[in-house]
Amino acid sequence: MATRNEILGELGLLPVWRWRVARDAASAPGERRHFVAEASAAASAAHQVVDAPVPVDRLQRIAALGWKGFAADVEACTACGLCRTRNKAVPGVGDAHAEWLFVGEAPGAEEDARGEPFVGQAGRLLDNMLAALGMRRGKNVYIANVLKCRPPGNRTPEPFEVEACRPYLDRQIALIRPKLIIALGKSAATTLLNVDATIASLRGRVHRYQGVPLIVTYHPAYLLRNLPDKAKAWEDLCLARATTRRLQDGGDETLPLQAVGADPI
Ligand code: URA
Repeated sequence: MATRNEILGELGLLPVWRWRVARDAASAPGERRHFVAEASAAASAAHQVVDAPVPVDRLQRIAALGWKGFAADVEACTACGLCRTRNKAVPGVGDAHAEWLFVGEAPGAEEDARGEPFVGQAGRLLDNMLAALGMRRGKNVYIANVLKCRPPGNRTPEPFEVEACRPYLDRQIALIRPKLIIALGKSAATTLLNVDATIASLRGRVHRYQGVPLIVTYHPAYLLRNLPDKAKAWEDLCLARATTRRLQDGGDETLPLQAVGADPI
């Protein structure tokens, strides 16, 4: 007779997810539940713990956070394995009521050491880009990442890490209520837009995330390696500026709009 797992496997329903109470002492109360995958014997041995908790109480708690408790909540987070390798969590930095929200992929080594996003070489370029627009971090600008903790070796974030961290970014967006989001690089852009696409195909138009107009541009770290593309990034920033101006004037930000100027970055 076929076993339960064999039948579920035939139906494409494996692995089966069930709650388990994690016994590790580092887990904060309310964050002790982890998903456990009951994989088929053929697929894997016994139980495989997957660090992708989405307990309703956690989502509700994050969705109710104010700025006062936000950073401390991120710093105490143990929802995925990155809490074990981070030095500092990197919640985000800037003006709590910024019109522009820049979103990168995840902290790198310097950000992990300092607890602030974009403080390395790429961050200095981002600051220059802001200066070229007459802006600066902290003044009408907020800078965050999709992931609040550094993936070891700066590897690409895993989907379950993104999903575990997404409630924090969504809460930041709800608190800031930016007029515009700028996704820095392919990873942030494709994660936020939930598409598998190239930067080239996503640039030059206005998307939306959580109802907020979103513009895609190159990651500053990529620009450091590909200097000629700085001109395209400048085009993207001009499009961002023109989009916010158009919104201020009550216009439709989805209409095609190209704003190109000399590249000062
Ligand atoms: N790259 C990112 O995507 N974010 C940072 O904070 C630093 C580098």
